[in-house]
Amino acid sequence: MTCRRRTVALAGFALLLLGCGASSQDGAPAEDQARQAERDRMVADQLVARGVTDPGVLAAMRRVPRHRFVPGSYARFAYADGPLPIGHGQTISQPFIVAFMTEALALQGREKVLEIGTGSGYQAAVLAELASRVLTVDVVEPLAKQAAGLLAELGYANVTVRAGDGYRGWPEEAPFDAIIVTAATDHVPPPLLDQLAIGGRLILPLGGSFQTLTLYRRTGDGYERTELVPVRFVPLLREDRTHRNGRP
Ligand code: SAH
Repeated sequence: MTCRRRTVALAGFALLLLGCGASSQDGAPAEDQARQAERDRMVADQLVARGVTDPGVLAAMRRVPRHRFVPGSYARFAYADGPLPIGHGQTISQPFIVAFMTEALALQGREKVLEIGTGSGYQAAVLAELASRVLTVDVVEPLAKQAAGLLAELGYANVTVRAGDGYRGWPEEAPFDAIIVTAATDHVPPPLLDQLAIGGRLILPLGGSFQTLTLYRRTGDGYERTELVPVRFVPLLREDRTHRNGRP
């Protein structure tokens, strides 16, 4: 897709060859095919091998072009088994963690999902493949803007990005069928619990410098809580970008 767009912009046969490389027999540019092969390998070696089974999640992880969501200098590491820096002191999570958290939300296709911590927009794109609408918030405005631009360019019309403090959730759009927090906090922001629909699921890394991915499910009369796996995320920040831990 990158190449096709670039081709339109450059509109020259020589540049087309320079920018995209040779086309393969079925017409897909060789670079796209190479990226697809990397994604297929990532899914087999990092996700299926570690127990991710949801076919929708695996298909989404095969589809979303992760290399577009990392800075150009890291594109060749985009499908490696780890997190990567995305600027502003933030990181895009390891592919396995993205898949694991997404699978835990058990999306069926009709859900309205809230993400706190847009970052690169990658997790939002994966969610957008599996849910009806995704609303995502980041406290770092340049990250929110960049992610919004990229998601629009890639055709994710069902994602809305906002700059702001996700601790408050997105009350005007509540309730949400699923909420995912991709920054660490030592307590669940109460507004997020309030904005979860009955039957809805919320997943977040809960703890101090080391955290546990924790899943909440809202029932008719409360919340069920399940601790899943140990993780390390960057911290949830206040609007002035200081550490969020400790209640406001
Ligand atoms: N989900 C992202 C990675 C998130 S990294 C991806 O797929 O790339 C954590 C993100 O949380 C960072 O971008 C950081 O700016 C954001 N963040 C930290 N505190 C926040 C807050 N209070 N509200 C919203 N976003 C916050």
